[in-house]
Amino acid sequence: MKILFLGTGADDWHNYDGADKRKNSGAIINENLLIDFSPAVSDYPKALKRIKNIIITHTHRDHFNADLLKEFIKENNARVYAESLSAKKISSDMGINVIPFKIGEEYEIDDYTIIPLAANHSVEDEKERPVHYIINDGDKKIFWGCDGGWLVNKTWHEIRKHKLNSAVFDCTIWDKEGDYRVFEHNNISMVKSLKKAFYAVKVIDDSSKIFATHFSKNAQHPHEKLCEILGEDNIITAYDGMEAEI
Ligand SMILES: [Zn+2]
Ligand SMILES: [Zn+2]
Repeated sequence: MKILFLGTGADDWHNYDGADKRKNSGAIINENLLIDFSPAVSDYPKALKRIKNIIITHTHRDHFNADLLKEFIKENNARVYAESLSAKKISSDMGINVIPFKIGEEYEIDDYTIIPLAANHSVEDEKERPVHYIINDGDKKIFWGCDGGWLVNKTWHEIRKHKLNSAVFDCTIWDKEGDYRVFEHNNISMVKSLKKAFYAVKVIDDSSKIFATHFSKNAQHPHEKLCEILGEDNIITAYDGMEAEI
């Protein structure tokens, strides 16, 4: 399985143009499955051409841009999937055809098996339910956990049934303690604890690759320092355009 991180920043990088800029969230699996459709996709027109399926986690603007998506599907046959209430909203409000997912169900999409799981996260419309994903390409399995702080208990019990080759965690809050976003995003110590818990119940092993992404702009550290802190626990700090083999 290959993963390309399109953007690795949280929402607050909006309108920021410094040298250390991170674009908004999203990734491409095996060149044909896109996770989220944020403004970051605009920087990858060539990679976007091969996309067959798009899975949306939630409709925050750092993960979803209706105008860009509308434009894209006019000229491409990609199918769009989202949790059923998000799908309904996107379909009716934005006129985009979205195939609904039910949380906890398993879906066969081309070569993939995909399971959407409830995320500890919310959007302004309380009816919408943000999701994480377990994605299996028939060879390797990855957990995509952005956005969300810690894990919903039911989601954890589903994850425990799996052996993951990789996990990607929201690390919005860096190493700030007591940050107000802690109820919907992780800090570094939470990511480290999540990794340890996954390891303790053998959801991951020494060969699994663990990534931290979705960093907020309120950076206390440059990328290199983050690599050092997360690297202590063998967690990979993602950066925009990073490609990894899992
Ligand atoms: Zn986000
Ligand atoms: Zn969000």
